[in-house]
Amino acid sequence: MKGWAERNGGNITINITEWIDEQMRELPAISERIAIGKTLPHLKDCWLYCKGTQKRMRDLARDPMGNGSVIRITPDCAHYEIVADAPVAPTSELPSHLAVHDYLLAKNSPYRASLHTHPIELVALTHSKKRMEKDAATHMLWSMIPETKAFCPRGLGMVPYMLPSSVELADATISAIEDDYDVVMWEKHGVFAVDTDIMSAFDQVDVLNKAALIYISARNMGFEPDGMTDSQMKELTDVFNLPK
Ligand SMILES: [Zn+2]
Repeated sequence: MKGWAERNGGNITINITEWIDEQMRELPAISERIAIGKTLPHLKDCWLYCKGTQKRMRDLARDPMGNGSVIRITPDCAHYEIVADAPVAPTSELPSHLAVHDYLLAKNSPYRASLHTHPIELVALTHSKKRMEKDAATHMLWSMIPETKAFCPRGLGMVPYMLPSSVELADATISAIEDDYDVVMWEKHGVFAVDTDIMSAFDQVDVLNKAALIYISARNMGFEPDGMTDSQMKELTDVFNLPK
């Protein structure tokens, strides 16, 4: 609906291990064991829901199990097999999503969902060298409307352009998450967001993109928006007890 998911753009993975009971653990695999390309020790015996490769976000909403599948990581932590409902091959970005989930578990994070999508206005922002500087975009977006900092208090991490699906891009994303960002921009490409669940990950991206839209509206009205002042931002941070 927001135009962020052209064609098969974007993907979702969710660690659903906590919902798997003993009876489900007995389910047979419906695919071969497939190599991840990495060994991810913290994902041992984990179960994940993954969007399917070449599948469309718009179809995922209507039919999640026809356009995605449930996989489990094998005990060697280097392979996965599809368990349900149909053998829909997971997104080509699976290795980077799994590496992020492995990192989150290693850190005892409560985050279980990762989202990659192409929000138009945020991607446009990354075509500016000035906005790619550390926290430049974050401060501009936070200053557009108080809710941005309240609901996306860790701001926006910036990763310079790297080849989609590459190991380098996955590693750079993890190091941005390690720097305490929940939402990471990939220059001239899209966002990668993590949170407790997929709606919360989406909400953070939505709130940031709304701030970008307010900025654009002001520019379209013919002026550079003033933004909230530093003291207004500080007051908000103190009163709402947001991360400093
Ligand atoms: Zn993409």
